Amino acid sequence: MTQPQKDNIALLRHALDIDPVESAEQIRFLERIQGLLADGRFTTTYKYALLHAIADIAVQKNDWSGKPCIIEVSELAERFIELYWNQSRNHPALSSPLHQMKGGKAGVIHLLEHASNQSIHAFKARTEDWQSTHREVEKIIRRYPLQLLQVIGGEKIPFLYNIIGSGQIELCENVAFCLARFHGLITGMARTEWYRMVLRLNPALNDGGRDLHTFLFETERQNLESYRGALLEFQEGRCFYCERPIKSAKNQAAVDHFVPWSRYPWDVGHNFVLADQKCNSSKSDLLPARDHLEHWLARYRNPQEFEELLARSNLQTGKEAVLPVFAWAYAGAINRSEPLWVSAGKKNVSPDIDLVELFRSA
Ligand SMILES: [Zn+2]
Repeated sequence: MTQPQKDNIALLRHALDIDPVESAEQIRFLERIQGLLADGRFTTTYKYALLHAIADIAVQKNDWSGKPCIIEVSELAERFIELYWNQSRNHPALSSPLHQMKGGKAGVIHLLEHASNQSIHAFKARTEDWQSTHREVEKIIRRYPLQLLQVIGGEKIPFLYNIIGSGQIELCENVAFCLARFHGLITGMARTEWYRMVLRLNPALNDGGRDLHTFLFETERQNLESYRGALLEFQEGRCFYCERPIKSAKNQAAVDHFVPWSRYPWDVGHNFVLADQKCNSSKSDLLPARDHLEHWLARYRNPQEFEELLARSNLQTGKEAVLPVFAWAYAGAINRSEPLWVSAGKKNVSPDIDLVELFRSA
């Protein structure tokens, strides 16, 4: 995919902290998000999921211009399902799914609970089931959270989006920019409130919700495990980062999110690499440095073999949206001068503005 030149200039401007949006307006935006989350009259957790989904998709849109931007409700529904997927399993302490609305299970949980014992990519591969569930979730989103998210203190304040017809929303001016810029902050706040509400709705959680945050928001190891075989084959049995051979024993390597889950929680093939234990634990939640990014971009640019492998294994690739997410992650790291990971035993390095150039030709 060739990125239009204007997007790269906008990305560069973002990395350099030259924003199209005034600082005062950015602060006002964050205050409104806080107000929205503090409004305690939600009866389900949908509002948190919707805000999270809109912020995630704003990153994928890769539009740093500040201009209004269209999101399809079907895109929101897909992200919604991804966010609720693991949450729709039986909670181990309750032997049933969690309550996510006053008085019981939320409609989305009803729709997903029987499917969520399999991996989401296996479910998406069952096209008819996926399409009908997806349509039902779209209906729920249109009927409830899309109408209610922007009601603050009883008053509708459409500062995030306007609803267009039945199938789209248009993000207001500067909103996509602010959501992408403050993605970690906004999704972090949404999850904290989501967690608190689930805790209130499930008094039977007798351990006081210990491990609840993990249950709600962390990726399922088994979802990652299904990628192991394909990655091992593609990397010819070597660690993606240090290229040392991986011993065959199962626990000698980990399926690693190249852009860490903590920054952008998303399980797709293009973001996965197989790393040996040493690299995986040393890298932790950092973004990898330039050499690793170039290595990853080389895999991305010559994708055929990799994608065929994923397709053969019924695994999601994430090809279309993964590059904007990577560009966004690195621009943010440059902007905030965050260290990048080089290798186990070596010092982390500061991000270089030239990294943005790597995305120009991607
Ligand atoms: Zn390694």
